[in-house]
Order: sequence, then C-alpha cells, then structure tokens
Amino acid sequence: MIQKIHSEFAIFRDDNYPFLAGGNKARKMMALHKTIEDNKYNAIVTTGGIQSNHCRVTALYCHKYNLDCTLVLHGDEEAFLTESGNAKIIRNTSTNIIFSEPDEISFNMDSAIDSYKTRGFNPFYLYGGGHTLEGTKAYIDVIEELLDEDYVPDYIFIANGTGSTHAGLLCGLAKFKLKTKVIGISVGRTKSRAEQVVESFCVELCEKYNITNKIGKIEVNDTFLCGGYGKYNDEIDTISKYSLSDHNIFLDTTYTGKTFYGMKKYIEQNAIKGKILFWYTGGIYNYLAR
Ligand SMILES: *Cc1c(COP(=O)(O)O)cnc(C)c1O
Repeated sequence: MIQKIHSEFAIFRDDNYPFLAGGNKARKMMALHKTIEDNKYNAIVTTGGIQSNHCRVTALYCHKYNLDCTLVLHGDEEAFLTESGNAKIIRNTSTNIIFSEPDEISFNMDSAIDSYKTRGFNPFYLYGGGHTLEGTKAYIDVIEELLDEDYVPDYIFIANGTGSTHAGLLCGLAKFKLKTKVIGISVGRTKSRAEQVVESFCVELCEKYNITNKIGKIEVNDTFLCGGYGKYNDEIDTISKYSLSDHNIFLDTTYTGKTFYGMKKYIEQNAIKGKILFWYTGGIYNYLAR
C-alpha cells in the first residue's frame, strides 16, 4: 500500500504486508511458499541474528504451516531469552535454536540439515535474509501494486542489506518498462560489493523470469554506513526516536532509520526533484526490541 504524504513524497508500507507479521522478509517468505509445497519440504534450516526479521518470519511460517524449524542464531543467548521484539516472537513458536559463533554458522547449518535427513525429514536450506530467486520474485510482482495504485515514482529509496529486495525491484521496473530510479542505501556493505551482488542477482532473476528489457542503473550509496552494520550516528538516533511523531512509522537504527537518513541527505546533496517513494521495509520489532 502506498501512503501519500504530499505531492512529492510517499511511503510504500511494506510493514503492512498482511502475513507473518509483515515487512520485506515476510513478503519474500510467502513467495517461497509454493516452492516449499511443491518440493514437499517439511523442515527449514536458516540463520540470522537474535533480532533477525528473517528468522522471525521463518519461525512463524514453520509454525503456521507445520514444518519443523531450526534457526542457527548468532548473538547473545541471554539477550535472546530476555529481549522483546523478534526474539520474543521466535520464543513463542516451536522453533529449535542453535547458538553459533559467526564463523561456525555454515558448519552448524550443514549439521542441522544432516540431522534432519538422518531422521527422515526433507529439509530446506534457506540462506540468511531469505536470499532466494523464488522469494525475490515478490519484488518483481510488487511493481504491479504500484501500477494498480497508478503511482509511478521518479525515485525509490530502499535499504540495501543482502540486496535482494533492491534487485527484485530493479527487475520488476524493467519488466514493466518503468523509468523509476532506485537508490539503495547500504546498511552494511561497501558500495562496490553491494552493487556487484545486486548486479549478479539481477542477471539470475531476469534469466529465470524471462525479463529481457534492460534494467536501470544499479546504484548503492555507502556513505551513510557510520562504520558498519548496526552502527549509527546521533542524527539517525534522533530520526528513530521521533519517527512515530514525525512520520507515524517505526524507523529503527539498523535498517529503516539509516535508510531514511541516507535518503534525506541524498536528496539534499543531489538536489533531487520529483516523486519520491520511501520503501518502508518494516522493522517495528527491531525498534521495540530493547
Ligand atoms: C532485511 C531487511 C532489509 C534489507 O533487505 P535486503 O533484501 O536483505 O537487502 C531492510 N529492512 C528491513 C527491516 C529488513 O529486515
């Protein structure tokens, strides 16, 4: 749903996606539903931090559709057991949790897959962040929602984490021959790494879904990183703190607050004019976690 704030600014309310407590990870997960059903998977192994939106969505999905679930989590176990937000939602599902050192994640995921197979399960290995072609197709299809609402912006500003949401939007815009520019605000990666990942993912997506139109410019800005993933400055902190009174959305400091800050700076620095759409990817539970 597009919420029009004024003639030149609107917010895409991906937080209101109506399944699995919303947000971009929920939209990606539901797009995987058919693949999971078709392959008769009955367990999922995935990974993320203790407040991961992707892990919350996977845990809820498995609980709802009666699949076994193992999350390989990195972060503080005590915090996971006491914090609110996504940690609380995950605790309230029937999920198996393995705590892992960051450098042992893939080993622990492989072990969990092997353990399921030994026990006769058919497990699905899901990359962190829900980085799959089938899931990302949701962001090709979502462009139809813009067309349905008759709202084609000049610019979309989107958080760039794994880059799959960004890549999906670019392929969707190409599919429908829209000229909208997409500006990714990196929340962790350098510009060159992030752009390279988006590019190779776009190639795979366009091939799989037969999109032959040329995609728009791949642009990720990494000048608002504040030192890396999860880091932020006073201005982002202020944007986050007053986000409900100022904009009536929860802007957390890791994803959406950082992106909102990057968008504001980018618009100032580049004197951009035209219709701007801020893609609000969710993150309510990150805001409310602590
Ligand atoms: C994961 C996440 C992102 C980044 O999405 P990617 O597709 O990984 O780039 C942005 N915002 C929120 C709230 C997220 O959970």
